[in-house]
Order: sequence, then C-alpha cells, then structure tokens
Amino acid sequence: MTGVHFGAELGNRLMRIYCLEKRPENQAEFFQLLKAESAKHPRTREFLDRVRANKAVIGVSDERTKDWIVMGESEKVFTHCSYDTLMTAILRGDSKVGSACPHCGKAMTVRIRKGTLEDYSPKGVVFLWGSGPEGSPGNPMCDHLHLFPDTKHMNAWIESKENELGFSFGLQEFIRRLRQRF
Ligand SMILES: [Zn+2]
Repeated sequence: MTGVHFGAELGNRLMRIYCLEKRPENQAEFFQLLKAESAKHPRTREFLDRVRANKAVIGVSDERTKDWIVMGESEKVFTHCSYDTLMTAILRGDSKVGSACPHCGKAMTVRIRKGTLEDYSPKGVVFLWGSGPEGSPGNPMCDHLHLFPDTKHMNAWIESKENELGFSFGLQEFIRRLRQRF
C-alpha cells in the first residue's frame, strides 16, 4: 500500500497536517492552500525575511543530519530535512545543498544560483513530499520530506515504511514549485 499519486487519502492527510481550509485535489491546489495558510502568520513572514537576508536557516539542527547547506566557503549548517535546505537556498538565492538517501545513504548535491537550479547530481534526483502514515503527528514533518537519488531509491524507502503516502517531483519541477511557495 504505497503510492506517490495524489489521491483523496493523501489529500485528507495533508489537510489535517497543515491545517488547510479544504482537502487539496492535486499538487497545485495543495501549494495554493499552503500558501494561503502561511500568509495568515506574520511571524512566518518575518522569519522568511531573515532567511532571505542570510540571517537564518530554516529548520537548523544542532546535530549532524543527512541534510546540509553551505554558502560560499561557509561551514556546513545541518537541518532537519531536505525541504529546509532547499527552501533556504531558494530564499537566499545562492547556496550548495547536500543530502543522503534516507534508504541507503547515497550522496546528492544541489547548487542553487540566483534562485534557480544551476546544477545537481545524480541526474535522477527526486523530492518526495510524504505525509507519513495515517494518524501520524503533524509538524514537524521532516521525517517525510526527502531527496532521493532517483525514483527507485524513493520507492524502496516508501516500501520499507508502514503506510507512507506522498507525491513526488523531479528536482527541476520541485525548485519551480518552491519559488512560488511564498
Ligand atoms: Zn537509496
């Protein structure tokens, strides 16, 4: 029982986790609803301005994790998930982001320049926006937001989990989505 399609059950889980006004029917609607929800919170906007000004990183972890971000020659900053690093990179405009497959540990890198995707490896990289199993707690959702080297790695990870649901993107499409996020 795994899937990366946008069905009613996934929509229900996302609505509950992100406190959306209605059940999203598809990815585009999910992002619209998420944006509407974020816009209600002035402190979120304040924080994002700090990220844009290089004064903050989203989801910083004090411990070493699989997800890191650097800017120029700066030290690696570790975060709780791949969403945190990629969103931070998009808001800043320039960064190098790294991750490791949550299933097998294979390394991935992504370079963002002027807010767009400049380079990445390996070339099959996909992002999974997972929801977790039914009834799982809401935020933090970091255990379900991952980069994978390709869809095979992603499917192997999903199959190793109990009742995970989510939807996935090629990296280019995901970066485009993130740019429209706020
Ligand atoms: Zn893997």
